[in-house]
Amino acid sequence: MDSILQRIDDKEADLIALTQDLIRFPTINPPGEAYEPCAHYLGERLKKRGFDVQYVRAHGTPGDSDQYPRINIIARKKGGRPGPCVHFNSHIDVVEVGKGWTKDPFGGEIADGKIYGRGACDMKGGLAASIIAIEAYIEANPDFPGAIEISGTCDEESGGYGGVAYLAEQGFFAKDRVDHVIIPEPLNKDRICLGHRGVWWAEIETHGHIAHGSMPFLGDCAVRHMGAVIDQFEEKLYPALAEKRTDMPVVPPGARQSTLNINSIHGGQSEDYDGLPAPCVPDSCRMVIDRRFLIEEQLDQVKGEITKLLDELSENRDKFRYEIKDLFEVQPTMTDKEQPVVQAVSSAISDVLETQPDYVISPGTYDQKHIDRIGKLKDCIAYGPGILDLAHQPDEYVGIEDMLDSAKVMAKAIHNLLNGDQQ
Ligand SMILES: [Zn+2]
Repeated sequence: MDSILQRIDDKEADLIALTQDLIRFPTINPPGEAYEPCAHYLGERLKKRGFDVQYVRAHGTPGDSDQYPRINIIARKKGGRPGPCVHFNSHIDVVEVGKGWTKDPFGGEIADGKIYGRGACDMKGGLAASIIAIEAYIEANPDFPGAIEISGTCDEESGGYGGVAYLAEQGFFAKDRVDHVIIPEPLNKDRICLGHRGVWWAEIETHGHIAHGSMPFLGDCAVRHMGAVIDQFEEKLYPALAEKRTDMPVVPPGARQSTLNINSIHGGQSEDYDGLPAPCVPDSCRMVIDRRFLIEEQLDQVKGEITKLLDELSENRDKFRYEIKDLFEVQPTMTDKEQPVVQAVSSAISDVLETQPDYVISPGTYDQKHIDRIGKLKDCIAYGPGILDLAHQPDEYVGIEDMLDSAKVMAKAIHNLLNGDQQ
């Protein structure tokens, strides 16, 4: 094993150049820029190392068009002997740049041992580290058992439908093909992420009656009705959610309970008028809510809690009428610590970093949801370099030392998994 770790140290320059090259593809989503050249760049590299490479366009998924095709890459290399398949999945998309940068977001600049750029930690640094880990492993073990796969997928930041979900539907994440999955999301090099909380997004609309703004008593204000909804949330819902604590080791600890965000609220006239607005009583107000729930909760109870408050308002508040519409839902997931991939990475962390791993749960979801729900693969975790809090921030970076360390952990984990040696 020591020779593989040495090989990874020797590949430092390659790791840096690979990370910089990946950052320089501005794979911003939405709209889904530069997926094709980024996928081909990965494919060309892996083909040279003997991988079978497939490009899969997620036709007909949200956002897919000839201008912005959802091109995913899957590379597979079979070993010389039978054995299990270890798959590393990374998303190639990044979120918008946003304000506040002091570095070029697509420059891949290096300063103080860090590589800067949008996507540096989330998650091109993790993708690069996994490729270096795999290449070093294969060079040291050309006759390895089983198979190793790498995928670079689209649209994780917008739900993963043109990426992992599509590939899972096509059978790329299925028991007859893949045994163990590692997703190198930026969770820190000594932490194993077992899963995530659940999500329910919904839109609540309150109805009113339009009238002249100088005579609001002739109308019925939908925004005031929504104000009553928010009062109910403040009085009853938020205190109840704060009471719901979980045994899931969610990080940061503030997310170790049920949460609700009000994503947006809009009532009355649109804001994009020129000059002055017209005086009208709003006849509609819409609010989008983002409820994150725990493995101890059931989705129908989560929904019922809110419809109960709304139904009470319908009974007690004059003229209160509402509609509620589901927008999106994901069940919580948590991989068992006894699963082989958890054991293999845990033992690799203690060997390489000489520390015991922390087990964590992500506050938000990521592509594990599709691998779990569609692919029915339960042996899946997220493990990768980078600091989660930097994701989506200005001056995002990934530490070079962290990438090298986590590449060593990944190489050791591959060895453990392919040889059935998790201890
Ligand atoms: Zn990510």
